[in-house]
Amino acid sequence: MAVTRQLFQLQELDTEIEQKELALAQKQSQLGNRQVLDTAQKQLDAEHKRLDELRHQHREAEAEVTDLLTKIADIEGQLYGGKITSPKELTSLQHELSIMKARSDELEDTTLEIIDRVEETESIVAAATDDLKKLEEDWQHQQQQLSDDIKKLQGNLEDLRKKRQELTSQIDTETVNLYEKIRKQKKQAVAKVEQGICRACRISLSASVLQRARSGQPTQCGTCGRILYIS
Ligand SMILES: [Zn+2]
Repeated sequence: MAVTRQLFQLQELDTEIEQKELALAQKQSQLGNRQVLDTAQKQLDAEHKRLDELRHQHREAEAEVTDLLTKIADIEGQLYGGKITSPKELTSLQHELSIMKARSDELEDTTLEIIDRVEETESIVAAATDDLKKLEEDWQHQQQQLSDDIKKLQGNLEDLRKKRQELTSQIDTETVNLYEKIRKQKKQAVAKVEQGICRACRISLSASVLQRARSGQPTQCGTCGRILYIS
């Protein structure tokens, strides 16, 4: 096999190795990355906290209502018990009673509003809990898939590197070094020739360069310096 063909194969191998290495690195960076779960958990925690606060507000409002109702019953007892007869005192008690009743009505409205918000938040928490559970299941599944993909890629890479090793062992060191040097500089070290043109830089090749390239000897493009390959 002509050395230029071997170099072209080497380039194809290197491209494949590079792509697989990139895919491997990307998958490895995703492995164990719980960011999406952590974010969902934080949101759920915040809703739980909100729910706790609302329930606390509810208990406080209810306690205040109970307290007020006791006081109202007490004042009503005094008003209608017959022990107090002073009109001034009775008027004062009546006034106090109406203030307490107004406050009690107000508190009952507030309590109903809080109950609505508690129920609303409870359903948000329930939905977020379900979502998180589903997310966790998906994540576990995805992680398993990632592990499998990583193992497969590592196996592929091992095979490809072995192939590369075999291939380079058949090419003389000087040529491999030239290939490596150009690849480092230009990423693509070998350029196909089509209709007398270097496909990498799209410049016509001289007759002597073409002749040398056709012989299968490593020949560099006079313009871009890549090794020419005529298939
Ligand atoms: Zn060129």
